[in-house]
Amino acid sequence: MLIVGNWKMHKTASEGMRLTQDFLKLYRHSSNSEVVLAPPFTALHAVHEIVRSTPVKLAAQNVYYQQEGAYTGEISPPMLKDLGCHYVILGHSERRQYFAETNDLINQKVRAALAHGLSPILCVGESLEERETGKTHSLIQQQLLEGLQDVTADEMQQVTIAYEPVWAIGTGKAATVEQATEVHTAISHSIEEKWGMDRNTNRVIYGGSVKPDNAEQLFASPKIHGALVGGACLDPESFAKIVSFAQRIANFN
Ligand code: PEP
Repeated sequence: MLIVGNWKMHKTASEGMRLTQDFLKLYRHSSNSEVVLAPPFTALHAVHEIVRSTPVKLAAQNVYYQQEGAYTGEISPPMLKDLGCHYVILGHSERRQYFAETNDLINQKVRAALAHGLSPILCVGESLEERETGKTHSLIQQQLLEGLQDVTADEMQQVTIAYEPVWAIGTGKAATVEQATEVHTAISHSIEEKWGMDRNTNRVIYGGSVKPDNAEQLFASPKIHGALVGGACLDPESFAKIVSFAQRIANFN
């Protein structure tokens, strides 16, 4: 199980330190689940100082694909590695929507991250209109194949897919277990078909209004290998509860 807290554009460095400390007071490590915090760039260093002596890992919310150069305002993979990041979230729907990120650009970022030892968490998901017009599967297939173009089977071991239906993000309306399971099954199948990766070893997590009151149900599906949590990760108690549900379910599996 992998539980990732995406702070989005919330928390200064000092606020982030407090949030992390409050979460750690409630967190009990279990080797069956990985916990990852994704603060904004400006809080990465401060949060890393706190989690470096714990099993909690760090993710960035974005990266640029060049290693260095005249790219004002951008952050490179080696810079994130240097800050202690293990993961990077890529292709989040907010980046696709507000920053016009295409599958092609996301693919360049995925490959650059892999080349520098960062594990990508590639977000895919359909809008409400796409779901209602029956395009969910073809759209996700396209996001996967284009976003992961030229990624080798070996590199795929480092890639996590986050299924995040756009209509579920920040809306309080999570996908049902059945809806998520159906899409996760299709994603696992595509990965197996394209990269020959056993469907039991690829990792597909769910994101979209995951809260303590729906996490347990979602995690009970063997196709859901964890969660990308937005809003609820800003509350240490909620995030710790979600983590403990994941750990409990992982114990049974
Ligand atoms: C997200 O930011 O990826 C997300 C899923 O947000 P929320 O949990 O708030 O819906």
